[in-house]
Amino acid sequence: MNTPQTVPQPAELLAPPSWRTVDFISDLHLQASEPATFAAWEHYLETTPADAVFILGDLFEVWVGDDAVGNDLLDPAAGFDARCVQAMGDAASRLALFFMHGNRDFLVGQAVMDLCNTTLLADPTVLVFPALTEQRWLLSHGDALCLDDVDYMNFRRQVRSPEWQRAFLARPLAERQAIARGLREQSEARKQSGAQYADVDPQAARQWLQAANARTLIHGHTHKPAVHDLGGGVSRVVLSDWDLGATVPRAEVLRLTAGGMQRITLC
Ligand code: MN
Repeated sequence: MNTPQTVPQPAELLAPPSWRTVDFISDLHLQASEPATFAAWEHYLETTPADAVFILGDLFEVWVGDDAVGNDLLDPAAGFDARCVQAMGDAASRLALFFMHGNRDFLVGQAVMDLCNTTLLADPTVLVFPALTEQRWLLSHGDALCLDDVDYMNFRRQVRSPEWQRAFLARPLAERQAIARGLREQSEARKQSGAQYADVDPQAARQWLQAANARTLIHGHTHKPAVHDLGGGVSRVVLSDWDLGATVPRAEVLRLTAGGMQRITLC
């Protein structure tokens, strides 16, 4: 049995009347060792016709604090994180860019958002899009809805607390990087062992949608792109992850226009 969860009251974001095309992406897991995924994402940001791009979490494979980026993005010696933030800043100069935390990059802070003119979104947020017939779209990363993974839900409660984050960010950078490596190795070992991952709890998703007065939830996290009918006229739409280095490369955008919802394959 799942312990009863409190249903979050979502934040609201009102799309300006000028928006016609909105893109959603998530779970790119950007990392220096996967240059092809970075290149595809950078090219996508440069070429998308969208008025707004919503990144719904796990853009980065790992994020241990904004101080890892440094202050000069244009410094040729700047690292991989800085190149990512630079690409976001370039995109944000011609479209509206939004970022929501995932379970890998929940430590992305306001300092980096300011550096690249990106708006940090609360999880969940309702996008109110007056140009469309269906006007309210509930956006989430999705991990908070995977209630069957009790260990993860406990871990999540811990690491999302301001006290834990203050204490973690006060540690030296090298120490934070070592802790993050340890967590990734644990997660990799779990994946290799063939462990099953919890999926979004349909009852909780319905409750979230009801609280948001929305019919469609858009989320990532599970890496299982699909549309799930939740009954009663509501559904959830799952974004694809990106991996250009995979045997069958993946890079996909969910695009919303007055014409409906469309999945765009980029590779
Ligand atoms: Mn995730």
